[in-house]
Amino acid sequence: MTDPIHIAGAGPAGLAAAVNLAKGGYDMMVHEKNPDVGMRFNGDFQGIENWSSETDALPFLESVGVSVNLKYNSFNRLVTFDPSGRRHVVKSRKPLFYLVERGNGSDSLDQSLKRQAIGAGAKFILNKRAKEAKQGKVIVATGPKVADAIAKGILFGTSYPDPAITFADNRIAPKAYACLLVSGGRATFATCLFEDFKNARDYFERALERMQKLVKIDIQSPKQFGDYVNFFLRPRFKGTRFSCIGECAGLQDGPWGFGIRYAIMSGALAARSIMRGRSYERLARKKMSKIFEVSITDRFIFSHLGNRRYETVLSYGDTLEDLVEWLKKWYNPSPFKTVAPQVTKRWYHSRIKHNEWIYGDSASIR
Ligand SMILES: Cc1cc2nc3c(=O)[nH]c(=O)nc-3n(C[C@H](O)[C@H](O)[C@H](O)COP(=O)(O)OP(=O)(O)OC[C@H]3O[C@@H](n4cnc5c(N)ncnc54)[C@H](O)[C@@H]3O)c2cc1C
Repeated sequence: MTDPIHIAGAGPAGLAAAVNLAKGGYDMMVHEKNPDVGMRFNGDFQGIENWSSETDALPFLESVGVSVNLKYNSFNRLVTFDPSGRRHVVKSRKPLFYLVERGNGSDSLDQSLKRQAIGAGAKFILNKRAKEAKQGKVIVATGPKVADAIAKGILFGTSYPDPAITFADNRIAPKAYACLLVSGGRATFATCLFEDFKNARDYFERALERMQKLVKIDIQSPKQFGDYVNFFLRPRFKGTRFSCIGECAGLQDGPWGFGIRYAIMSGALAARSIMRGRSYERLARKKMSKIFEVSITDRFIFSHLGNRRYETVLSYGDTLEDLVEWLKKWYNPSPFKTVAPQVTKRWYHSRIKHNEWIYGDSASIR
């Protein structure tokens, strides 16, 4: 008899671990503090990106044990408005990302993963915060702890066709971007901020005004939302009994905040480490540290562009034949990016405090 494995948190990371462990026949319990999975979100759209790896996101999901039995929409074309309102259009052969719904609706990514986990035999304890696990292996997948970047936006109905439109301008989205995603008559519009959080409302109002000026879109029954992401300069994968996965390990896509792929991959690796009796930390560092380091360097570059250089970069973008292929180059290690972490390490500090994170032999889960 072995102790059951406890997974704390049923977001994409925890659920990917659960699907894999359940398929492997492991006795395991998934703990979720909300009454159902996905309730951190409200039916908003998020993209599973296709630029951090050579492998397309859909075969990637299958390769880490997750079936793609969910509703998605793929986007091969991105419109971006630069700070002076000029429109830039870039295309790609492969989808730039696959748009999925987050939340507890039946078509959401979260519910799809939950169905797969239950189908494979996973057990859930819902509506109860996991606080401690005195023994056995624990996979901590509790998501972000503090805001390193925030998003403020609205969800609404619209008759507008399905576009993906971004707005680059530090006056509406400091060191980040605002984004409009429409699919099947529903839309998510948000501005993201990497600094000056206390003025988020003003940034959002300016972003909304800009969007309505540049895109003639009808907005029906808007509902506000706000949320945050966490990322560390160095992911924190381990404890002795505790393995950290997803955003609670600080795994986030540096430039754009597309953390779903990292979350699912780390969940699958944590499960694999248990099934194969290998060190999760070693597996995760081997598979994920390089790409993570590069992505944080890309954030450093993005943060230092400023409005004027946004215009230059976007004008260059107009000449690109394939945006995905160009973005992929940014995720490749290069001699510059091997020395850059020495600089980024001094420049970037997560807002999380060490004692808000650390997992060792202590039984408590945060
Ligand atoms: C507004 C916004 C837009 C985003 N857009 C994108 C996008 O377009 N593409 C993309 O790839 N990523 C996007 N992200 C990031 C993405 O949502 C996260 O990277 C991803 O959800 C991380 O998955 P996770 O499983 O690590 O954490 P989460 O999804 O946060 O899941 C953690 C779960 O743990 C539960 N929990 C927390 N503490 C406990 C506890 N003690 N006990 C039990 N349960 C607990 C929570 O309720 C939650 O269900 C966005 C994030 C935000 C905020």
